[in-house]
Amino acid sequence: MDPIRIAIVGIGKIARDQHVPAIRGNGAFSLAATVSPHDAGLPGVPHHASLDALLAQGPAVDAVALCTPPQVRYDLAAQALSRGAHVFLEKPPGATLAEVEALKAQADKVGATLFAAWHSRFAAGVAPARAWLAERRIEKVSIVWREDVRVWHPGQAWIWQPGGLGVFDPGINALSILTEIVGEPITVLSAELEVPSNKQAPIGATLGMATASGAAIDTVFDWRQTGPQTWDIAVETDKGSLLLSEGGNTLRLDGEVQMKAPDEEYPSMYRRFVDLVETRAIDADTAPLRLVADAFLCGRHCPTASFED
Ligand code: NAP
Repeated sequence: MDPIRIAIVGIGKIARDQHVPAIRGNGAFSLAATVSPHDAGLPGVPHHASLDALLAQGPAVDAVALCTPPQVRYDLAAQALSRGAHVFLEKPPGATLAEVEALKAQADKVGATLFAAWHSRFAAGVAPARAWLAERRIEKVSIVWREDVRVWHPGQAWIWQPGGLGVFDPGINALSILTEIVGEPITVLSAELEVPSNKQAPIGATLGMATASGAAIDTVFDWRQTGPQTWDIAVETDKGSLLLSEGGNTLRLDGEVQMKAPDEEYPSMYRRFVDLVETRAIDADTAPLRLVADAFLCGRHCPTASFED
């Protein structure tokens, strides 16, 4: 099979850190072009300032990986799909749920692949955690996702703007794991959203959720953590306890480490994208984004101190 000619749209932090090496490390792809308004791109790779320019002037592409902020993703995805290109969406798949539903309908109509890529679901401990929990009754879940926004999002104004999600930008990774490992519906019961007085999006959030069978899910997201960072999901069941840490790459069962794997999330996601493209399939689960939307719908907004990045 000829390689899938893919363009990366949005050559920012995640594109450079993860997408470029994952694409270059997978023989099923050739990196055909990059797109970014204010960036010179990569040596030896054709670069355009906009997707319009790429589609008008070439080179031809079979697929695009959209690594922009979420606020501009829908228009870019719709444009690419209108040309029959397969679309890989960074997380979150859109700024709103309706955008993602519209893209699913469009991809279905044109027979192209749409992949909403929840990278944390590809962390090594997630699939075994799901299998272990499938044979147990969940009694309680505690999620703690505390990180330093100045380390992970330096100079990124979009995260604080409407549609940028604030602390839910990393928090949605926890929710993507949660909705993958818990095999039943989850509802948001309450939320407190701490919004700095000079920002449009929360810097901290506390969520009360529950599984359909009544197990409590307590969740803390905080972007003001300096020093060691915490990305933990702990689950108590009728037959033992589980702890996923380091964003899902370390799995402990009853306190014993079962798995401590290196981060291979992006290479795994691109292998999945190849499989989807082969059958022109759609994989665009909105469950994590729905929980975020529900937290914003029912959450109490608590103004907090202004914050300088
Ligand atoms: P970033 O560093 O701000 O990069 C975003 C890039 O998008 C910028 O290079 C910007 O280009 C480009 N862009 C903006 N509007 C565009 C448009 N209309 N057309 C083409 N390119 C456009 O952000 P990031 O951290 O990479 O995050 C991007 C997405 O990846 C977010 O949804 C985030 O949640 C997700 N993500 C990030 C990380 C992480 O560790 N940072 C991890 C996983 C997922 P210019 O600079 O040229 O203006």
